[in-house]
Formats: sequence, structure tokens, C-alpha cells
Amino acid sequence: MNQFLLYDLWKYSYQDFYNQNIFFDEIFFDTRNIIKGEHGVYFCFEKIYEKAKIYVQEAVEKKVVAIVSCFNFDTKNIPILVNKNPIKLLQKFSKYHLQKFLHLQKIAITGSYGKTIIKEWLHFCLRDEFMVVSSPKSYNSQIGVPISILQTKKHHQVGIFECGISSPNEMKNLQNIICPEIGILTNIQKEHLQFFESKQQLIQEKCLLFKNSKKLFFLSENKQLITYLKSNFKNMILVQIGVSKYCDIQLINQKNNFIKVRFFSNISCFKIPMSDSVSVFNILIVIGLLYNFGFSIEKIQKKIMNLTPVLMRIELKHGVFNSSILYDTSNPDLSSIKIALERLFHFSNIKKLVVITDVFQFEYTEFNLYKKIFYFLNSMNLYHVFLIGKSIKKYQYLCKNPNSVFESYKDLIKNFNSKNITNSAILIKGSKIFKLEKFVRSIESQSHDTILEVNLDSILYNIKVFKNYLHPSTKIMAMVKANSYGTGSYEIAKFLQHHKIDYLGVAYVHEAVILRNNGIYLPIMVMNPDQNSHNTIIEYCLEPEIYSLRVLNLFVNKLQEIKYQKKFLIHIKIDSGMHRLGFQDNQIKELNKVLKKHSNLYIKSIFTHLADSDNKNSNFTFNQIKKFEKLYNKIVINLDYKPLKHILNSNGIIFFPKFQFEMVRLGIGMYGYVVDKLIQKKLKNVITLKTKISQIIFLKKGESVGYNRKFFAQKNTHIATLPIGYADGIFRKLGNGNFQVLIGTKKAKIVGVVCMDMIMVELGDFFCNEGDEVIIYGEQNSVAEAAKKCDTNPYEILTSISNRVKRVFVND
Ligand SMILES: *Cc1c(COP(=O)(O)O)cnc(C)c1O
Repeated sequence: MNQFLLYDLWKYSYQDFYNQNIFFDEIFFDTRNIIKGEHGVYFCFEKIYEKAKIYVQEAVEKKVVAIVSCFNFDTKNIPILVNKNPIKLLQKFSKYHLQKFLHLQKIAITGSYGKTIIKEWLHFCLRDEFMVVSSPKSYNSQIGVPISILQTKKHHQVGIFECGISSPNEMKNLQNIICPEIGILTNIQKEHLQFFESKQQLIQEKCLLFKNSKKLFFLSENKQLITYLKSNFKNMILVQIGVSKYCDIQLINQKNNFIKVRFFSNISCFKIPMSDSVSVFNILIVIGLLYNFGFSIEKIQKKIMNLTPVLMRIELKHGVFNSSILYDTSNPDLSSIKIALERLFHFSNIKKLVVITDVFQFEYTEFNLYKKIFYFLNSMNLYHVFLIGKSIKKYQYLCKNPNSVFESYKDLIKNFNSKNITNSAILIKGSKIFKLEKFVRSIESQSHDTILEVNLDSILYNIKVFKNYLHPSTKIMAMVKANSYGTGSYEIAKFLQHHKIDYLGVAYVHEAVILRNNGIYLPIMVMNPDQNSHNTIIEYCLEPEIYSLRVLNLFVNKLQEIKYQKKFLIHIKIDSGMHRLGFQDNQIKELNKVLKKHSNLYIKSIFTHLADSDNKNSNFTFNQIKKFEKLYNKIVINLDYKPLKHILNSNGIIFFPKFQFEMVRLGIGMYGYVVDKLIQKKLKNVITLKTKISQIIFLKKGESVGYNRKFFAQKNTHIATLPIGYADGIFRKLGNGNFQVLIGTKKAKIVGVVCMDMIMVELGDFFCNEGDEVIIYGEQNSVAEAAKKCDTNPYEILTSISNRVKRVFVND
């Protein structure tokens, strides 16, 4: 979000605020989400005095910058703005913010389904040509829209905002705030109808959003809607999308992944990445918009081939008794509940179950909220609904499907008969505080007792730690070679792409291909482009590291062979002392000659790699840097542009930030490990390797454990066997008492030798159960510690965790 003055907030409430130097850049509307209040204003929407008092008190304790509430409270030194309608104030504040940007092209999307997907796809398709701002996640409500809008900054050219309504009179507010020039109406279903008198009223309400729009794209063949639009929006250009011949954009036919489309009077064919009917129509809307933006058919084709299904935070897992688990980890609100239910509905399993907890959403009274939720639930034929929590319990009577109520996940687990989910699909959706992940684990199928959990937010956090050493303009190349140092395949890259990392680096071409095939469009440097892969490099728009004249010549020949005309991006690697790959001083002349001859080679960057970056004051490193700069200059002197210059890896960033130049290459550090002890403490743990106890046995004093009888019990004890061994990446050196795993709060030594698929740990008198979770590597028993025991580094431990171990990605 932008920085705003408290002074302005007060001003829009027609009140005076005397300090013109207090800023805020965050807005909270749920005190539970306030971690650090320093920069945020808390908007209290609660209308009941006693409750508001409690929330405001909490916000005061969390030291927010200011509070807006309809009641006055004693907030000590924190300014409080008393306004009888904080939501209206927030809307007004965002409206005036948006009005500052006269050149922003504003697009608003509404409709029953598909809003979020279309918004995300449009953003993706326009982001190369325009600076785009769009609503985060499904922020489309009376509060979500203002929050989305407050992100808009001066440099943005296109704003894409999603608008949802659930009762009459909401849309006019959103229209008033956004005033979109272009409208998109995805479709109108009768799902909300119970809050409206008739379909006509629903149509009228939704179309209010387009009151002053110039153009509307809509996906519908509904006569009532079309008549309404034609008679009420005489000055608006209507673009109808559908299958009938009356449509302006008509889907003529579809064969698998190919569609034939008529735009007004032109007919074109497109290859599309998804072929289900919902996606096809969503893609048609996107095509229509891109056409409107003046993109050529060729360009549109390229863009839509790169679309990927939008990640909602729903994890799909295998459950016991052949069930499918949809575990939605995002906090529930009305729109995410609806999306999750739609997902569930797409499953072919006939039996469908839902677990849902209390929902907190302040825009609605509790009764209205649950009325809506149960309306969604009742519209589906569910085998059983499990309601968890005290407030949802009160509305159990609204539930038309077979159901039961529990107070907590513990009660649920206790009373749950897993056989009931045989062959079913089960949706689990709940507030974080209900800890449903524990329930999910209890019904997950046993084949994944051992998992590597990768915390994506921790990676992001660690990157921020490194950013503290960098100028805002320094680019970051995230190293995702070797399956992101063993943490996952394309998932990490995808996450980093979402968070706008600048560059990716991989070792081999096939690693980059996997990324491209999974929707990664960021530039990717390939460090070791083997000579048979040059075609692939060109085809997949990859950028090779050129480390020798041999590689350079091979490339040049390939480009000539295929008559490549455009600029081809390469990276030049200098050997400044590592003596691994790279150009030496005496080869630069020849390099320059070849470069001069082939003007379509574009040197994106020139770089080198440090051999001794683990040492803080290494003279060797200073010499490497000196040599690198010299050779860099020798190459650049012949160019009329400046390639990016980079040298630092993770530890280099910490120890030699002065030499960050225009880019750094961040690897091990973002996965959580550095040499410097102080910085290590600042980093968050990213990976947790977990398993579950297979068996616990009692061992008498003097008895032995495992192959070659390397362990003898010194006294009567208990031994737990864990289903993870050296084939999963547990080094044999960790056996024989060298490393401890964590069971609950208890540390247990690995005893005897590490087997291929199992290890044994000593429990002593510690009480635990078969099936209990065990942490092999985690925050307290870290990979770094294991590395030390094995005379190696965290890199080797991480990349040794084998493919047999399932990777699970989590957000906090
Ligand atoms: C792997 C690699 C990096 C990243 O190194 P870290 O120590 O993991 O930060 C940087 N540059 C090159 C050339 C690499 O191969």
C-alpha cells in the first residue's frame, strides 16, 4: 500500500488533525491480523459498543498508529477518529485516492463466478506492456475494493478491480469509488437470488457498476440481460461473448485444445492451455479484452498459452479409504467458501462432505453471514456437513444437509469415523485458529508419513533479510537450480515469480524447461547449457551462460543455422579465480572479436563467481573482484550498452555488500542458511522434514538394535522405528548417536546404523505413541547441525533429500 497521512483521513471525516507528519501504510480491520501495529490504522467496524471496546483495546495494546471507530474510547496516546460509519469513510478515502490518477485506465469485473481468475489472467497478460495494479486475492467486497484501490500508485497505467456483492445497494458504492471505463460481466447466476426480489433486480444491481462505463464485455446469452443492457445503456459499447451467432465474439467450435473464434467479422484459431468449458469462456473474455487493447492475434495467442490455473490456496491430498481431501488453507470468507465449494463440486466422487468452522467477516451481521453460507451449502447435495465452533453451532438449524456439530477439531477427530469418507471428496475449510490441519493429518492416507514441508513465507522473509543489504535498485537472481536446492520443483520459482523476483538461475536446460512448462515466464539464466540443448534454449527463451569460446562459437553457429534474426540474450562468465568455468584474461580479445562480428548477440550480463565468499575478510575475494572489474571493462569498452554486472552469492551479500553492483545471485540464504552466526539467527527456518513413528518396542538392557549390532541398550529402554533412511537422504553418518530427532518437545538420538528405509531412535522413558509426528530436520534440529555432523554443508544435506519424499508447500 501507499503511504498516507493521518491528516488526510481526518480531513475526509471533516475533523481536524494537527500533526501533519504522521503516516500510515496499512489498514487493519481484524485485530487478530495485527502483528506489528506501527504503520497501520485499525478500522473498527463493530457496531456493538461492548465488543468494539474489546477490539479497540487490543489494537491499542498492539500499538497501531491510529484507530477509527464509531465510538469514542480512551486510547491513551493513540489518536482515535470517531466516525459514525467507518466503512463509508474508508470508501470515500479510497475514492479520492483513485481520483488522483487521471490517466489510469480502470477495468472493473463483476459476475457470479470467475472474477478472480479473469482478473489474475488479465493482469498477467498485460503486465509486460503496462504497469498494472489489481485487487489482491479475492478482495472484492465493500472493504476489499477500497483496500485494493489504496495500492494504486502514480506509475500505474491500468487498474483491474474485482467487485462482488451479496445484497442490494452494495454495487452503487463500488461504482462510485471506481468509476470504471471498461466493465466485465462474467455471468449472472441465480445463486444470490434469495437476497434479491427477482432476477431482474439482480441484473439491475450488478449492472449499476457500469453506470458510466464506455464499454462492457459480457458473457451471456440471457435475453433478459441483453434487453436490459440495450435499453438502459444506450451510449455504451456492448461486446457480447458466447456461442450464438448474435455474439460479437463467438466461440464457433472447440476441438480439445483448439478453439475457433469469430471477432466481429474476423475468424481466428487459437491453441489454449486448458480445455474445460469454464476455462474456455474465461479465456474468451481475456481474448476480447486483449483485442480491445490492440494486441495482434499472434501476440494474444502467445499470451494465452502461458495462462495457468490460478492458485487458490487449496491443497489436494490423498485421504484414507480412497478419498480426496481438498484442504483450503486460506481463512474463510464468503467468496472463498463459494470458490472452494465450486471446486468440490467439480470432483467426480459422488459422496461429498464438508468440514467448516466459524467464519469471521465483519461486513455482515452474524445471522446474515451464516444465512448466506448455509445457502451455498444447501444448494449442494452433500453426504454430510461437519460444523465446528460455537457460533456456527447457533445456526445449525439452517443446514439442510445431514450434519453434526463439534466444538473443536479434537472433538471432531474423536468422533470421526474415517470409513464414512470411503471414496468421497471432502472439503475442509476453516479459520486458522481451529487448527484443522490436525484433522487433515488424521485422515490423510498413510503413504506420505514422510514429508518435506517447505514454508514459502519464510523464503520470502529471508529474501527480505538480504534485501536489507541491498540498494532498492539492485536486482536479485534467485538460484533455483537442483530443484531449488532440493526443496521443490517449479513451486518455489512460481512463488518467487508471484513475488516479483527479477531473475532465476538454474544449472541445466532441462531444469529451465520444467519451469517454463509450469508457467514461469521470468528470465532464466542457464549456467551449464550443454551443447545438444541449444535448440531448446532458443525455443524456450532461455538465456545461456557463455563460459568459453567453444560454447560461444557453438551458439553463434546455431543461430546462423536457424537464421535467428532477433537479439539473443546471453550472459558472459569470467573466471576470476574460482578456476571452474569462465573466460580467462587472455581470451577476452578473441571474445570481443566474435561479439563484434555477431551484433545480434546481446550481453545481458557479465559475471563471475566467488571461491571464498564464506570468509569475511578474504583478500582472495578482493582480488577476484578487482580482476573481474578489469575484465568486465575490457569487454564493455566495445559495447554501446552496459550489461548487468554481478558477483555476489548469499554469503557474499552479507560479507561484501559494497560489491553488489546491479545484481546479486541469492541461493542458500533464502533457503535459510548462511555462514555468519548473527545473520543466521535472523533467518527463518524454511524446511521441516517430518515423519511418523512406525513402531515402538521395549528393549531390555543389553539387547542390540539394527544391522551389525552397533547399539546395545545400557538400561531398559524404548526404541521407535521411523520410516526414513539413507534412500530418503538421511546420511549414514547421522547414525550411531550422532544426531537427534525431535518428538514433541523431546530429543531422541538415532541409535544403531541408518538403514536404507528406516532409522531407529531411543525414547528412554519418554512416552509417545505409534503414529506420532517426528521432526528429523526443523527449526530446533537444523540441517546446518546435521551438515556439521556429516562433514558437509547444508547444500549437500538439502539436495540429498530424495524424490521419494513428498514436498508440501505451506504459507504461514
Ligand atoms: C549456486 C550459485 C550461486 C548461489 O550460491 P549460494 O551460495 O547458494 O548463494 C550463485 N552463483 C552461481 C554461479 C552459482 O552456481
